[in-house]
Amino acid sequence: MTLPEITSQFEPYFLLSDEKLKDVVDHFRQEMEGGLAEFGKDVAMIPSFVTGVPDGSEQGTFLALDLGGTNLRVCEVRLFGEHKFEIKQQKYKVSDELKEGQARVLFDYIADSVDAFLTDIGSDISSNEPMHLGFTFSFPVEQTAIDAGKLLTWTKGFNAKNAIGHDVVKLLQDAFDKKHIHVRCSALVNDTVGTLLSRSYQSGPALIGAIFGTGTNGAYIDKTRTVTKLGKEKIAEAEQGGQHAGEFMVVNTEWGAFDNGRKCLPISAFDNKLDRESINPRKQAFEKLVSGMYIGEIVRNMLLHFIDSSVLFDGYSSNILNTHYGFDAAFVSGVEGAKSSDEVKKLIIKMLGVNPKHISEGDIETVQWATRVVAERACKLAGCAIAAVVLHTGNDKNTEGEEDQGVDVGIDGSLAEFLPGFFDRVREALVVVLGKESSDRIKMGLAKDGSGVGAALTALQAKKAMEKRT
Ligand code: BGC
Ligand code: MG
Repeated sequence: MTLPEITSQFEPYFLLSDEKLKDVVDHFRQEMEGGLAEFGKDVAMIPSFVTGVPDGSEQGTFLALDLGGTNLRVCEVRLFGEHKFEIKQQKYKVSDELKEGQARVLFDYIADSVDAFLTDIGSDISSNEPMHLGFTFSFPVEQTAIDAGKLLTWTKGFNAKNAIGHDVVKLLQDAFDKKHIHVRCSALVNDTVGTLLSRSYQSGPALIGAIFGTGTNGAYIDKTRTVTKLGKEKIAEAEQGGQHAGEFMVVNTEWGAFDNGRKCLPISAFDNKLDRESINPRKQAFEKLVSGMYIGEIVRNMLLHFIDSSVLFDGYSSNILNTHYGFDAAFVSGVEGAKSSDEVKKLIIKMLGVNPKHISEGDIETVQWATRVVAERACKLAGCAIAAVVLHTGNDKNTEGEEDQGVDVGIDGSLAEFLPGFFDRVREALVVVLGKESSDRIKMGLAKDGSGVGAALTALQAKKAMEKRT
């Protein structure tokens, strides 16, 4: 069989037609609306209780914790106002044992890391006032207040026991208190919300904060009264309690769980294998096609299929190729960015551990095809998620009546940062779905450090609200 014969049967799952992209966006909007109206939906549309976005004038020093990416990060964030900040930070490894053990042990470890960090930076926490900490916890949490919320489910390789259904702020605060660490967790924030706030602090009001990293998700600004599932009373309360007009609230979509019901996503045999072998089967359907934790694994499944069909590497595999999650998105980014087939060959040898004597020119092309189509699909679907939010909020058109300011999207995550062509491909999907003119209104940019700065900004908002109450 020739390469086109082998690959053509799979292409419909990866090279998505314009109709498919539009269909995905339609379903996306429906699921988003469902999540705003009712609790318990896959696309959870979680109210963050963050009302209003910063304007860059905010000041103060806060601690921030970031759990849910590759590492645990502890930061001290200084907000200087005038859109400027400074971060001191330390990364701590979270082992698989911690990820899958007892939640209490995980939270003890987090508290110990904060303690170690405070000692390292010589922070003075002997004063009566506890230090305020913003906790960026990048998992689906049903928030009930800015400093309270129950974990709905784990994602991205975490599976700690006795956490689901528990208030994660309480789990953390208990760990601090038990160890007499003088820190108060005053705000809980998703990384997407943090990214949205941080982007707004740095470069003016943004509409969306999105993560395309280990996992994927997005947060955006909606009218509080659109979150109808909150009920009249809670809506009124939120509208009054707001930092600014209070009319708006940041909503954490949890779009990683889009189409768990498998109504429209192009799920191939390679994706089904990945899902079946994952620790959260039938969950995070969208995330598993899009995010950095999974795209390497999809490519691995493809290559194994070709090897088993004796059309790749003379039918020989390698230890790495035989290992679950044996390589990650860095391989995809590497091949996508390679300038010559020789460079690709070197990556195959180094990152996949394939014996050079089994690598032909055709094999190199097959590997390039695999990484290209997997990356292409991930980016196009990422574009669909953004387009759906833009359409939902009516931001495909200028409704301000004045000069068109457009809309701003802050994006963070390893995929956005390291996958060559990420932004161009996302843009292509936006053009297909929204048309050129509307797509031109959307500005996208990398917003790094969102988790740290965003957590600090939320802690500030919480502190202000607390002071107002007392
Ligand atoms: C989580 C989200 C998070 C996203 C990006 C997903 O797996 O459910 O809460 O925002 O990853 O980190
Ligand atoms: Mg992160």
